[in-house]
Amino acid sequence: MSEYQKSPLMGQMMSKPLLISSIIEHADRFFGQNEIVSRRVEGDIHRYNYSECHQRAKKLANAFQQLGIKIGDRIGTLAWNGYRHLEAYYAVSGSGAVLHTINPRLHPEQIAYIVNHGEDQYLLFDITFLPIIKAIAEHCPLIKGFVMMCDRDRLPTDGSIPNLLCYEDLINANSDEFEWPLFDENSASSLCYTSGTTGHPKGALYSHRSTILHSLASAMPDGLNVSARDSVMPVVPMFHVNAWGLPYSAPLTGAKLVFPGPHMDGKSLYELFEQEKVTFSAGVPTIWLGLLTYVVQNNLTFSTFKRTVIGGSACPPAMMKTLRHTYGIEVVHAWGMTEMSPLGTAGTLQAKHMSMSEAEQEAVLVKQGHAIYGVDMKIVDDSGKELPWNGITYGNLLVKGPWIISSYFKHEGGDVLEDGWFPTGDVATIDADGYMQITDRSKDVIKSGGEWIGTIDLENVAMSHPDVLQAACIGVFHPKWDERPLLLVVKKPGVNIDKQELIAFYEGKIAKWWTPDDVVFIDALPLGATGKILKNKLRDQFKDYHLPTA
Ligand code: ADP
Repeated sequence: MSEYQKSPLMGQMMSKPLLISSIIEHADRFFGQNEIVSRRVEGDIHRYNYSECHQRAKKLANAFQQLGIKIGDRIGTLAWNGYRHLEAYYAVSGSGAVLHTINPRLHPEQIAYIVNHGEDQYLLFDITFLPIIKAIAEHCPLIKGFVMMCDRDRLPTDGSIPNLLCYEDLINANSDEFEWPLFDENSASSLCYTSGTTGHPKGALYSHRSTILHSLASAMPDGLNVSARDSVMPVVPMFHVNAWGLPYSAPLTGAKLVFPGPHMDGKSLYELFEQEKVTFSAGVPTIWLGLLTYVVQNNLTFSTFKRTVIGGSACPPAMMKTLRHTYGIEVVHAWGMTEMSPLGTAGTLQAKHMSMSEAEQEAVLVKQGHAIYGVDMKIVDDSGKELPWNGITYGNLLVKGPWIISSYFKHEGGDVLEDGWFPTGDVATIDADGYMQITDRSKDVIKSGGEWIGTIDLENVAMSHPDVLQAACIGVFHPKWDERPLLLVVKKPGVNIDKQELIAFYEGKIAKWWTPDDVVFIDALPLGATGKILKNKLRDQFKDYHLPTA
């Protein structure tokens, strides 16, 4: 961009802007017959192909043009993973407007805040989210129309939603003759708000250029590894961080896409995996927990599923082991965040690792991995001094790259970069081979007697106990050490384990002083809008907890 020096001798290659519309054009032209299969909100299975998707996206783009949408305008979506949402991804961004994906699991008040802050002009929504629209409609004065993503016969007729439009009517009323406009590749393409566990959510505003570069880099073999031979099921939601970019990287490579819609329970996912011969999927650990429980209980195996990317929160090594050994599924542990489009690292092996023992390979694979090309990272101490890459020293993790945020939407929060680097809020180690391992989020680290205890390790040990379904570790007040670890555990159904046994299980697996002081068994862990354990809620709940004194 302009801030960089200009050479007297510029390259003589075409300078076609990197635009999102080019992905669907490519998919239509070269992989037009490849399928997109969706389990719809309506309950049935919908199937069509990239050519048909492109046609309908162009009809929708025409519809938006008729509604007066211009380049840079925002259009919100409250929708599951499905073909209509995919059409909106391309129709909105492709025509120069900004696709604002909204997480329906947030509180309606937060949703209204996000819609207003984003200044969305239209809001597309799946039938499921009608109650949310009813709750927020009167609080969203800038919205010119609510577009229900269904056929006309499903539309409510009670007049409860002002300016209600029918998605299929918009499609049917328009021609598929549409020339995708060309504009500056640095133009905004989509907007996603962070979950905002503290304060108001803030928007990460992606550009066409950042999205295309992220799609190219993340699709590579040592990233998500997506190809035209794959059948890809994004279980990660399209309403949060663009389903890790899969709605772009799959069409870019020609892979078949399979969308689970709202049905994310183990049984529905398993059926879709088998019926659609899914080879690759991506999701957060809690989703795989549900799927694995179903598969184990019913004594099933996978016939085509061979690779999965797990991220969003740490993948417990015990889960990785089960997927790899019992089901023969390659697990790629990945790390990233909304502010990073999201992919930053992926844990894949190199040639030199291939002769290692299984245990040695697993020790590499449980880490969050090496940076994918385009991302640089470093760890620093609290004074900003860079720390060594020895796999032991931990510090604040900072990143930079062309798909990493430079400031939040509307400059909320002011300047976020530190000397050109984005502080992730994560604490990590990096080893001599460049493999990064997250110790914790800095706000979750337990500070015991001036030293830090990372909670991920403690949770991973608990999760490797055969009777433990889920575990979370938090710091609670201790009169001598300031904070000590308290382990909260959800048992597997029908098992009988006591706290002494679980505490003894830590022996020899971690430094003795890291051992949790106490264990509390609970029925369920509170999950946030993106399927992560809400540690701030747990800390609140247990803030007056008295640890046993030794
Ligand atoms: P939100 O919490 O707003 O949903 P993101 O979905 O962007 O935000 O989450 C980003 C954070 O999730 C990271 O900063 C990190 O703390 C955590 N995270 C993501 N992937 C991993 C992983 N593989 N292991 C551990 N933590 C992870």
